[in-house]
Amino acid sequence: MNSFTQTRRNDGLHPQQADFKEVVLNPSASFGGLYTLEHIPKIDFKPFINLSYPELVKKIFFTLKILEDEEILESALKRYKNFDDPTNPAPLSKIKENFYIQELYHGPTRAFKDMALQPFGVMFSKFASKQNKKYLILAATSGDTGPATLESFADQKNIFVVCLYPKGGTSDVQALQMTTQNAKNLKVLGINGNFDDAQSILKSLLKDEEFKESLNQKQILLSAANSVNFGRIAFQIIYHIWGYLNLVKNKKITFGENICIVVPSGNFGNALGAFYAKLMGLPIQKIIIASNANNILTEFIQTGIYDIKDKSLIKTASPAMDILKSSNIERVLFALFGSERTHQLMESLETKSCYQLSPKELSTLQSYFSASFCTDTDCLKCIKQSFEDGYLLDPHTATGLKVAKEFCQDIPTIICSTAEWSKFAPTIAQAIFGKKLNDQEAIRRMYQEKNIQISPLIENLFSKPIVHNEILNKNEIKSNILKWLSEEK
Ligand SMILES: *Cc1c(COP(=O)(O)O)cnc(C)c1O
Repeated sequence: MNSFTQTRRNDGLHPQQADFKEVVLNPSASFGGLYTLEHIPKIDFKPFINLSYPELVKKIFFTLKILEDEEILESALKRYKNFDDPTNPAPLSKIKENFYIQELYHGPTRAFKDMALQPFGVMFSKFASKQNKKYLILAATSGDTGPATLESFADQKNIFVVCLYPKGGTSDVQALQMTTQNAKNLKVLGINGNFDDAQSILKSLLKDEEFKESLNQKQILLSAANSVNFGRIAFQIIYHIWGYLNLVKNKKITFGENICIVVPSGNFGNALGAFYAKLMGLPIQKIIIASNANNILTEFIQTGIYDIKDKSLIKTASPAMDILKSSNIERVLFALFGSERTHQLMESLETKSCYQLSPKELSTLQSYFSASFCTDTDCLKCIKQSFEDGYLLDPHTATGLKVAKEFCQDIPTIICSTAEWSKFAPTIAQAIFGKKLNDQEAIRRMYQEKNIQISPLIENLFSKPIVHNEILNKNEIKSNILKWLSEEK
């Protein structure tokens, strides 16, 4: 087995090394760091060109020596049968010379989170069952993570999920995806407050010893399936490889030819997957990071300075990328500069809200990444222009396309599409009709006037019964969860 090491060194309280199962179930590492692969091997991808998607996952997982329990992996991979085309869960669509959109949103919740969370839920549950342990997974969401997490863990053994969302803070479609989720092991709570409030409740619960003790009495452990969990990252390496091999298979490039990959980024999980693929030897010339007006990642990659001192979060049309602390960057720092330096930099971020790379380190970082950002005005223009040219994009993907045009005119380029337009229909209507509409009206007009259909998975939400309708104040959450867990299940 490949062992996992920790980005900020070992504190003597955590095991020196952990295996994949432990890292998935208990993701918090020494000094607040992350578990990460100790050794990333070079891989010859050429023999993999004709593999099916699940076979490719298996090959990569076996080569990385992270999960060798074939039965668990097999059941997890069955989840790709829930995608529109099970033989190709992440298809490419050519939009112009050299530009390919990789649609990562063909799963049940229509956002790219499904690519990893679908198999992840099965795997997590199997690991938990094998250890004879029950887990409560807490999630706080501003939109896409909640639906994908609930969909992932619905009816999975040994797992309970509580998902907190800000009432009124998500799109109508996202709220319905959560509140109509009907499974006994899931609970969805609206909170009176914004996303930051939801997240701070989550953080305080994760630290609450009394809460943990009450759970322990019920023999339940506490966990969070957030986007730094390596179990999710592992699945996010695969589709980048799949995209490249697809270009080769369809004779758009020859094997060995360099491409660019453009990733609309928030917490950097998607981009980290591409980074690992590049370390393994996939011919990626550059990974291009696209941000929105919260352009901390652009600033960092362009200047080597990560400074959030005087910054506050801006609400944008691409909310899944509204972020100040982008957690998975830490694994890049570890891979490039080692644990000693990563510890130093992360400590500086915590104490001074700022860190800075040396010029040499910056040039190393820039040999892997370039970055730029896209304002909401440009994002809406890009959606409209692209639609007129024949391709409908969601706002996150639009930031990617805008940035791709700055960097990648002359090289085959894959732009990751992270959501289907229907999840952000009001923004699409704003771009195309110049009008503010609610989700349902926006979807109707797209159909009536532009002949654009939506997936039944979205359409049916509007007539599904709402199962979760509790809206609570901050101080009511803990007792509500404990009471729910005490009821017979
Ligand atoms: C989560 C999400 C992102 C950001 O992905 P990261 O891996 O956190 O960088 C981008 N777009 C959409 C639609 C998302 O749901």
